[in-house]
Amino acid sequence: MTGADSRDHEISDARLRRHGWIEVITGSMFSGKSEELIRRLRRAQIARQRVQIFKPYVDHRYSDDHIVSHSDMRIASASVRSSSELLTQVADDTDVVGIDEGQFFDLNLPTVCDALADRGTRVIVAGLDQDYLGRPFEPMPQLLAIAEYITKTLAICVVCGEPANHTQRLVASSDRVLVGATGVYEARCRHCFDPQLAAAEK
Ligand SMILES: [Zn+2]
Repeated sequence: MTGADSRDHEISDARLRRHGWIEVITGSMFSGKSEELIRRLRRAQIARQRVQIFKPYVDHRYSDDHIVSHSDMRIASASVRSSSELLTQVADDTDVVGIDEGQFFDLNLPTVCDALADRGTRVIVAGLDQDYLGRPFEPMPQLLAIAEYITKTLAICVVCGEPANHTQRLVASSDRVLVGATGVYEARCRHCFDPQLAAAEK
């Protein structure tokens, strides 16, 4: 019997059986965020932990009931319309909550992630850290501030081949979000990124 086992006798099991925390996976498009999220969630499933996976309803990109990476890795997920709806769907015995496209959630998402982590859930959030103009994309900056673990993923600049931290929009639009449009974005480095390009091509 290990020390942990003997300690468990003194602790009422449910509430204190584990500690929660928040992990954030963030970077530009094409940097492998969803792949990394799916990899972590799969490992938890293999360990027979109870995993629930969510994405915002706005993202119809490839599949309504799966998270799908650009390399076609996929994992079953539920679509929710708000962070509060997400919270109501998490079961008491869930060990791990995965959230994709965190930047499309409302500003209450960090509070919801905090609440889940406080009650012992491992929360893993993937999302864009910047929009097409290079501006911090809420609520990801707030999540980065409160997360225990942060993974910054970089893509490769399609212009020069250096590490890419930006999502370049290639068509003219002032909408902050263009969902499901293929060929509309590419990864670029700081030097090759041009936030004016979308407007200049009008
Ligand atoms: Zn470049």
